[in-house]
Amino acid sequence: MTDTTRYVLPTNQTPKFWYNIVADLPVPPDPVLHPGTGEPIGPEALAPLFPMAVIMQEVSAEREIEIPEPVREIYQQWRPSPLYRARRLENVLDTPAKIYYKYEGGSPSGSHKPNTAIPQAFYSKAEGVKNLVTETGAGQWGSALSLAGSFYDLDVEVFMVKVSYQQKPYRRAFMETFGARCHASPSELTEVGRSILAEHPDSTGSLGIAISEAVEMAAQRDDTKYALGSVLNHVLLHQTVIGQEAMQQMEIAGDSPDIIIACTGGGSNFAGLAFPFLGQQLRGGKQYQFIAAEPASCPSLTQGKYTYDFGDTGHMTPLVKMHTLGSTFVPPGIHAGGLRYHGMAPLVSKVVDLGLVEARAFHQLGCFDAGIQFARAEGIIPAPESTHAIRAAIDEALRCKEEGKGQTILFNLSGHGNFDMQAYTDYLGDQLKDHTFDRDQEEEALAGLPQVGLA
Ligand SMILES: *Cc1c(COP(=O)(O)O)cnc(C)c1O
Repeated sequence: MTDTTRYVLPTNQTPKFWYNIVADLPVPPDPVLHPGTGEPIGPEALAPLFPMAVIMQEVSAEREIEIPEPVREIYQQWRPSPLYRARRLENVLDTPAKIYYKYEGGSPSGSHKPNTAIPQAFYSKAEGVKNLVTETGAGQWGSALSLAGSFYDLDVEVFMVKVSYQQKPYRRAFMETFGARCHASPSELTEVGRSILAEHPDSTGSLGIAISEAVEMAAQRDDTKYALGSVLNHVLLHQTVIGQEAMQQMEIAGDSPDIIIACTGGGSNFAGLAFPFLGQQLRGGKQYQFIAAEPASCPSLTQGKYTYDFGDTGHMTPLVKMHTLGSTFVPPGIHAGGLRYHGMAPLVSKVVDLGLVEARAFHQLGCFDAGIQFARAEGIIPAPESTHAIRAAIDEALRCKEEGKGQTILFNLSGHGNFDMQAYTDYLGDQLKDHTFDRDQEEEALAGLPQVGLA
């Protein structure tokens, strides 16, 4: 095997702009609403939580937003990220399909999350912020923000979902190495944490709860801002470097995808890969098939309701229109902790609602099975979250085999699983099971939806 270009495709330059899909959508995004009045809120209402530059990106309809030069410089440590052709996996599957994957696990914290952590820290520093507070599910976002905080000399405090805090102790060590403080959530440090613990002393936590704790803390101090690792428009925007690079790399490879796949927790790595391609399609270009792969135990896109809801369990955030299982829904403690969120990015929810993107839900055993097949063929152990995309890609490659079709599949490998060995230990030791989706809990959570006229 001397011809390595058959596996690793030539790279290109890091993009100079982020791509904003709002400019190309057939309908405008739905307004963000005040939780008390149900009225649309303006950018200034978000100022206690986010730096102004980030808020302006959140509400922007401009197609291209320039990436600041200092951010591009840091990106260059791991970007452009490699695009691989999964030749060995194709051989194992004996499929006529071509499989490509964009690998985001080569970043210093092992996932796509630094693509947004770096600019968020950059803008915070530029506006005189001293501290950033955030939540983290599996620990990937907390790791990325801790790293970014240390580059920009910002103090970082992380509320980590309790089940992950217990499952992934090395993620906590990672954050502390970069100088961040990490607390198991729900914690005794916030009012919302204390009230949840009073009611549910054994709470394993959820992203919705951890977000409430972080928002409560950030809103109390002037020199402190909140940072979110997914869901919001500006986060999806920052991730579009993935898809823009992939587009150029596919072109250099002389190929073009038919099917584009990524896993969805809050929707940011999916949007990062898919939106630049979808934008081209919306401007009259090639039609692609897009698949969002979500966990069957927390299936916001396939089983949730498309309506206005809170982003957090403690009801401190504004209301956004999205696919939701209800803000008090607590998903089972699956190992793909980064996918355990009750809602979905409003922009991803919108393109699913418009029929431009298809959503599929997968159980964890089938995902780990696909992840191990992938690891043995390609040599990279995927993050448990990413195995959902791999499952979907392998299913499509096997369908191609059945139908004798040589389609081209591109998926995002959002991160490596080198910190997730407990998950693999449990899977290989037959200690994991599939969780049926708890519809009763969803109905209970949806009964608490905010009452707003526009929904
Ligand atoms: C956080 C995370 C996800 C899920 O978040 P999205 O915003 O949906 O991308 C997926 N994969 C990895 C490796 C993650 O760290």
